[in-house]
Amino acid sequence: MGSIENGASNIGKGRIVDFRSDTVTKPTAAMREAMANVEVEDDVLDVDPSVDQLQKQTAKLMGKEAGLFVPSGTMGNLIAVLVHCEVRGSETILGTESHISVYEQGGMATLGGVHPRTVPNNPDGTMELSKLEAAIRYELDDHLPITRLICLENTQARCGGRCISAEYTDAVGELAKSYGLQLHIDGARIFNASIALGVTPERLVRAADSVSVCLSKGIGAPVGTVLVGTSEFIIKARRLRKALGGGMRQFGILAAAGLVGLRDMVGRLEVDHANARIMAEGLNAVKGLHVNMALVETNIIYAEVTSDSALTNTEIVEVWKEYGVLAMIYGRNMIRLVTHYHITEDDVSFALSFFKTTSLQTSRNSSTSGRKNIAEIVDVCC
Ligand SMILES: *Cc1c(COP(=O)(O)O)cnc(C)c1O
Repeated sequence: MGSIENGASNIGKGRIVDFRSDTVTKPTAAMREAMANVEVEDDVLDVDPSVDQLQKQTAKLMGKEAGLFVPSGTMGNLIAVLVHCEVRGSETILGTESHISVYEQGGMATLGGVHPRTVPNNPDGTMELSKLEAAIRYELDDHLPITRLICLENTQARCGGRCISAEYTDAVGELAKSYGLQLHIDGARIFNASIALGVTPERLVRAADSVSVCLSKGIGAPVGTVLVGTSEFIIKARRLRKALGGGMRQFGILAAAGLVGLRDMVGRLEVDHANARIMAEGLNAVKGLHVNMALVETNIIYAEVTSDSALTNTEIVEVWKEYGVLAMIYGRNMIRLVTHYHITEDDVSFALSFFKTTSLQTSRNSSTSGRKNIAEIVDVCC
């Protein structure tokens, strides 16, 4: 329902259910009201009161000393890496599937001169401790960069929104400490992990020296990430934010939305997780699609297009789009779907029920369009 009312892209086109990402979430009515009414100051010259409040509140939630509001998760991660690796010739260890490694243009290398060293992610989003340890370079050997940082991601998005446990994070923290390294957590979806595991965010990130916390994913704020860490770390981070062009003036307009997000949106993430399970089970019942249900812990679903399907993932996503259901192709044979607060259980039922319609429609058209019959992939679930 919310998707219809709030989706600008669906005007005149009927019902749209947008499973592409939780980044498509638009600010709630309460956020817009808070944004309209908030008192603002120049947060570069002075301190904007709601930016200050957002930073302090997020830092407290994460059990850290201080916070810094930045425009994006990418900037939060970049600043964290560059502060931890401020000595030239430093190296960061991170997962092959990490957002920082895959989706941030290698900013740590191209902008910061930091060498990224990747270790394979296990299907559950972790990395083997033995492989992490083997990747650490600490010898004073002129051939080698010096490792100064390990990055984790929680939830691990490309592994399926998998939750990284507090115990595993502690173990990586211990390893890092034993070699004098720092630990950064890309916590773009840390609240999803916290809700799914029933563990406070503070506990999940206790071993970390810094965490970036996105407000514009499932939390629904229009913009922003809060980077948290020690006060000393945040002083350096603030300087770097300015150099990167992320110092913002009446930033309180955006902080106000973030504060409403922290207040209203964290607890309801369990609804997204429940809807993701229903959607995943429905998709898994479709011949030609396979969802490994064990991987669906939070709000991200990866459906594999199997050899039983007459259509490729690209073709399936195109057909779905004609019926107002938006998803993303992922790799050669996967489709990614993400639930969020615009998607209700009724939207999930709608998305699942239209397979039948799709089947009829495509069968009718198939002789003229030459398209392979979609019935094979759609005939089971309704
Ligand atoms: C979305 C995301 C980010 C940052 O994204 P921005 O679009 O730069 O805000 C970082 N890490 C993960 C895991 C993400 O999902």
